[in-house]
Amino acid sequence: MYPVCATCRRIMKVEKNGVPFIERDGYGKEYRIWSSDQYKCPMCGYTVLAGFGTPTERFQPGFQARLHRIKRRREGVDYIEEQSPEEKEIMRTPIIFRAVEPDEQEE
Ligand SMILES: [Zn+2]
Repeated sequence: MYPVCATCRRIMKVEKNGVPFIERDGYGKEYRIWSSDQYKCPMCGYTVLAGFGTPTERFQPGFQARLHRIKRRREGVDYIEEQSPEEKEIMRTPIIFRAVEPDEQEE
């Protein structure tokens, strides 16, 4: 079942597959990279990430390379940990990553 917009009561549609989501640890450091699907409400345009697969963890080979690639392309969504020591800095620059629009997909 797809996500449902609680406000509009509509089933959300998949807008993009494979959107990276960066999870951070309690110190604000990148910890896991998830691959998710971005859904959009057809009424209000609200978007959510769902359908997470198996993450790439920090200790695994290729993690840093993937992280750098995501940041360079600005193609993912970065989690903001409310209690993180980096919270103030993150909140000064709230949009670190943005979800990718469908027409921006790479070949
Ligand atoms: Zn909605």
